[in-house]
Amino acid sequence: MSWTNTADRRLRERAEAVIPGGMYGHQSVTLLPDDYPQFFSKGRGAYLWDVDGNRYVDFMCGYGPSLFGYGVESIDQAYIRRMAEGDTLTGPAEVMVELAETFTAQVSHADWAMFCKNGTDATTMALMIARNHTQKKTIVRARGAYHGAAPWCTPLPLGVTTADRANQIFYDYNDVESLEAAVKEAGDDLAAIFASPIKHDTFVDQESPTVAYATRARELCDEHDALLIVDDVRAGFRLARDCSWSLVGVEPDLSTWGKAIANGHAISALLGAEKARGAAAFVYVTGSYWFSAAPMAAALETFRLIRETDYLEKTQALGRRLRAGLDEAAARRGFALRQTGPEELPLIMFEDDADMAKGYFWTDALIRRGVYFHPWHNMFFSAAMTEEDIDFTLEAADESFKLLKAAGPLEPVGKLQMAHQALQMLQPL
Ligand code: PMP
Repeated sequence: MSWTNTADRRLRERAEAVIPGGMYGHQSVTLLPDDYPQFFSKGRGAYLWDVDGNRYVDFMCGYGPSLFGYGVESIDQAYIRRMAEGDTLTGPAEVMVELAETFTAQVSHADWAMFCKNGTDATTMALMIARNHTQKKTIVRARGAYHGAAPWCTPLPLGVTTADRANQIFYDYNDVESLEAAVKEAGDDLAAIFASPIKHDTFVDQESPTVAYATRARELCDEHDALLIVDDVRAGFRLARDCSWSLVGVEPDLSTWGKAIANGHAISALLGAEKARGAAAFVYVTGSYWFSAAPMAAALETFRLIRETDYLEKTQALGRRLRAGLDEAAARRGFALRQTGPEELPLIMFEDDADMAKGYFWTDALIRRGVYFHPWHNMFFSAAMTEEDIDFTLEAADESFKLLKAAGPLEPVGKLQMAHQALQMLQPL
């Protein structure tokens, strides 16, 4: 495959002039290996094309939304049909009620639903409703877990004040003792415990929740009349057809959703149990686009596919095929991988690679071979992927291992070192 990124480089130069930093947030490729494209022209099924026309098997799926693949005809047609009738109107359409009925029927702990646009809207609303419901302030949440980019939770606290971060205490994921200690410190002021459905933090091994941890989180909330919040924005419907903590038998009071629920159309949601309904009815939360009907129509069709297809079992089988194939290829080439997290939501790093030099070299070689992997963020599968896509990926991975072997000792990744130093200089809030 020929690989160039000249159109991408030209666009980056233009972007530098009119977009701060050339790009911002999680879609900036600043911290990715050098050959990653910044701009894309098209997505279809399992594939993504950059502006230079290179095709990738896309294991990021838009950072999660593409559950059934890009451009699913029936979902996009539902969106277009609703657009023709009207999308953002002076009030919501019938589809809002239908979607709330469908969503609450799908997720066992939920008695009501509210819709918004981004995951951050949903997590922030969860925090407000928990505080309103309990009339208490303190939020206990896992260190290193991502819940969005608002001042209360953004991982990079530039432009954030100590007051923005007040009333939060941290625990270590899956560590019952540290959870209990954080709750103890909250005393009689505990409003909520936030939990990611799995530990899917960046740069570190992923972990599924232990039953002991999830159960204790539930008990502690009950003992303290606090609310348990599961942030299913990223993992929702990727691990189960219900809230992800249904897998450990724990029902939260609130759960937050986004990304996959409309297969890429702009909508997120907060679901709640009966006891929080009153508090939810009175917080003032809204947005110009929160009631737009077309993404809701797309979500309804996505839910039909979630109910009626084997997308989950398929992505799990593809995940197993990839994991086994990568382990086999790595061993054959003399490497050891750390493949953590559920197979359908994997993070892949190298053993003995503290400075990530191997990971960066390998993923950079993969991108040049038409495979979009991420060196330090969990990855995603779409139901549009096939066994042939996985086998193509494994072949590219094998060639990339071979190149890595031939490269010998590597320099540490300069851009990561610089980012690390910059982070150290920031006052942690
Ligand atoms: N929570 C989790 C677990 C997420 O992964 C994300 C987004 N990556 C968010 C919240 C925030 O969602 P958004 O970027 O749509 O605001």
